[in-house]
Amino acid sequence: MATLMALCMKCRTNNKPTMREMKDPVVTKNEKGRYSAKGTCVVCGGNMFKFMSAADGEAMMK
Ligand SMILES: [Zn+2]
Repeated sequence: MATLMALCMKCRTNNKPTMREMKDPVVTKNEKGRYSAKGTCVVCGGNMFKFMSAADGEAMMK
C-alpha cells in the first residue's frame, strides 16, 4: 500500500501540526462520494484523519 502523509495534531513544530506518515490507513468513501483516510501517526501513535481526492482515494482502495 502507498505511504500516506497527513497532518498530526499531536506532533507539533512551532505550535503547528506536522506532516507525518500514517500507519495502517483505512480509506472509506462516504455517502457523498467523498474519500477519507483514518490511521495512526507512526511517531506518536495519535489518531489521524485526512480527506482525500477521488483519485487518491481510488488508488488507495486498490
Ligand atoms: Zn504524531
